[in-house]
Amino acid sequence: MAIEPDDDALATALLARQRRALAKAITLVESARPDHRLRAQSLLDRLLPHTGNALRIGISGVPGVGKSTFIETFGMYLLEQGLRVAVLAVDPSSPLTGGSILGDKTRMEQLSQQENAYIRPSPARGALGGVGHQSREAMLLCEAAGFDIIIVETVGVGQSETAVAAMCDVFLLLQLPNAGDELQGIKKGILELADLVVYNKTDLDPRAAAIAAGQMRSALHMLRPASPHWQVPVLQASATSGDGIAEIWATLQNYRRLMQQAGAFDERRKQQAQAWMWQLIEAGLQERFRHHPAIQAALPQALRQAADGTVNPATLAALLLDAFQR
Ligand code: GDP
Repeated sequence: MAIEPDDDALATALLARQRRALAKAITLVESARPDHRLRAQSLLDRLLPHTGNALRIGISGVPGVGKSTFIETFGMYLLEQGLRVAVLAVDPSSPLTGGSILGDKTRMEQLSQQENAYIRPSPARGALGGVGHQSREAMLLCEAAGFDIIIVETVGVGQSETAVAAMCDVFLLLQLPNAGDELQGIKKGILELADLVVYNKTDLDPRAAAIAAGQMRSALHMLRPASPHWQVPVLQASATSGDGIAEIWATLQNYRRLMQQAGAFDERRKQQAQAWMWQLIEAGLQERFRHHPAIQAALPQALRQAADGTVNPATLAALLLDAFQR
């Protein structure tokens, strides 16, 4: 679909780094309205050649670990290095659990006032494509608007971590130094996603933090590394004092350099793009399936039969899929 004149002007303004244009474009990609979806797609098509130049950093950790304090301090440090920083959030909150965990506007007060920073609270849920879909498109828009670093924040619960790891170049896990029970509280699988583990709040008890970091290093050695080119480092920081922040940035730059040299950086992005495409195909198919008249007619009975055990679920699934294809 050709881009509408208004949206072409929007694209031009966004490429000229106008914040209001970026905010408007993100609102468009966050919308679930079908006409907005079409416009968002042509806008993204138009902007795609200008994307891909940022370092995409995912940050996760349980509530209270210090994510927003860390992002504020780290973001300010990056600005000092002459970089432009955008912060997005992927919120795992569901209609069941209620409000958003990451949407609080009072967070990152200092960073949010900076000319070269842009902070977007997490979008409302409910669009097509599953957790993180809108943030992925918002990330591309931020790149087109010239941001050098995109930080995507999420909470250490739910499926949001997988979604964030699947859209970022590097995934940073923030941890609390409660020496002795290092591996408790880390959901299985989260550690495998981490490219970098950082113990925050080490100012509170440096000794406990050092012990915790040591235990984490041993635990990581037992895991198979996600990449043959990278052994996951365990660092220590204090988001309130700024200690360790420079080392974290140096480590991330080192990561990017090594992964790029090995070709693994681009390879990860290629695989992410393909996986994203599949995710959208699966979401679209499911949507069409549920709205298909033959399926809508047959589904209630099939669900009853599956539930009461009168018909094998596999038989029911095969019948419904046949009805969908016909
Ligand atoms: P989030 O829920 O992960 O975003 O955590 P917050 O950034 O809101 O931090 C939770 C609390 O921990 C706040 O009171 C922060 O001031 C505090 N905090 C964060 N980082 C540090 C740190 O490095 N040292 C200390 N002492 N407190 C911290």
